[in-house]
Amino acid sequence: MFGRLFGAKTPILDSLPEVRGKYIENAKLAKHTWFGVGGPAEVLFLPEDADDLKTFLMRKPAAIPVTVIGGGSNLLIRDGGIPGVVVKLDAPAFRQVKFDGAEVTVGAGLKNSDLKKALIDNGVGGLEFICSVPGRIGGLLRTNAGCFGKTVSDVFVRAHIMNDWGQIYETGAEDFNFSYRSSMFPENWIVLDATLKGVKAAPEEIRKTMDEQLAYRLAHQPINKKTAGSTFKNPEGLQAWKLIKEAGCAGLKVGGAEVSDMHCNFLINRGKATAEDIEELGEMIIEKVKEKTAITLEWEVRRMGVKK
Ligand SMILES: Cc1cc2nc3c(=O)[nH]c(=O)nc-3n(C[C@H](O)[C@H](O)[C@H](O)COP(=O)(O)OP(=O)(O)OC[C@H]3O[C@@H](n4cnc5c(N)ncnc54)[C@H](O)[C@@H]3O)c2cc1C
Repeated sequence: MFGRLFGAKTPILDSLPEVRGKYIENAKLAKHTWFGVGGPAEVLFLPEDADDLKTFLMRKPAAIPVTVIGGGSNLLIRDGGIPGVVVKLDAPAFRQVKFDGAEVTVGAGLKNSDLKKALIDNGVGGLEFICSVPGRIGGLLRTNAGCFGKTVSDVFVRAHIMNDWGQIYETGAEDFNFSYRSSMFPENWIVLDATLKGVKAAPEEIRKTMDEQLAYRLAHQPINKKTAGSTFKNPEGLQAWKLIKEAGCAGLKVGGAEVSDMHCNFLINRGKATAEDIEELGEMIIEKVKEKTAITLEWEVRRMGVKK
């Protein structure tokens, strides 16, 4: 445990280095997640640029844990919050977009949906699926996000990553070790940017694909609700939503959390859910599916922080 929030006598803020970005003590994380739940970050750090992040990582006391978040669209942050420092790349320096032919280098803090216009304007197709995934580029890489038959690993060229000592590396796909909804670089390393490869295409075709993908999502997923997308990974050769439905979990509720009636693998915060409600509902589903099918579902949503 660290700092006053977690019972220590002195706030960790006193031991953090001077930076150009912003420290926010006891920052509410619920507003940084799609579920809209979760306790505070002991300190939320919004670095100004990569140099600022480097200064912070090099000079902070080694014992203070660092957690990076992106758009919070794959996170269930527990009600007790996250000890230590939570880093979010939000400054303009982390949202740059640069084209080189059909390749685009994108800052890790850019919202995936903000890539839409740039792709259309530059006539780069093949990356439309990325714009339909909620969240930001750093989270996209960490989760090897995918949809509409593609994953990030299919279009990945290289990335810049900062390790926990503030050193920057250029990495290729072999360092990421992409697999289904995950990549294997160390948990406390931070993606700074990514270069992705598309194909030259007509702007109207790119726009059409984007519109079709959005329409599909609106028709099949509760994307306007407080959710974190697919809760569980699909077991090899099977679909998690079908197993959940067959186990009789459609409409199941715990407190303010419920299983979406539109898509059984999506859990919804109906407004006043706690992280505990959502986690308990998820664990209940795992049990029921196991009873019915002997299959143990694995969380796709990443759970972070401590219980209240
Ligand atoms: C409505 C809805 C639909 C969705 N549909 C899909 C879908 O079709 N396909 C799919 O794959 N996912 C989907 N998701 C899940 C989610 O959008 C993706 O997993 C997304 O890539 C997460 O990105 P994020 O920026 O929100 O990351 P977060 O949720 O903030 O974090 C996810 C992980 O990434 C890490 N991370 C974040 N930024 C960085 C960084 N800069 N460097 C290193 N690590 C970092 C975090 O530590 C955490 O482990 C959906 C979610 C919602 C809410």
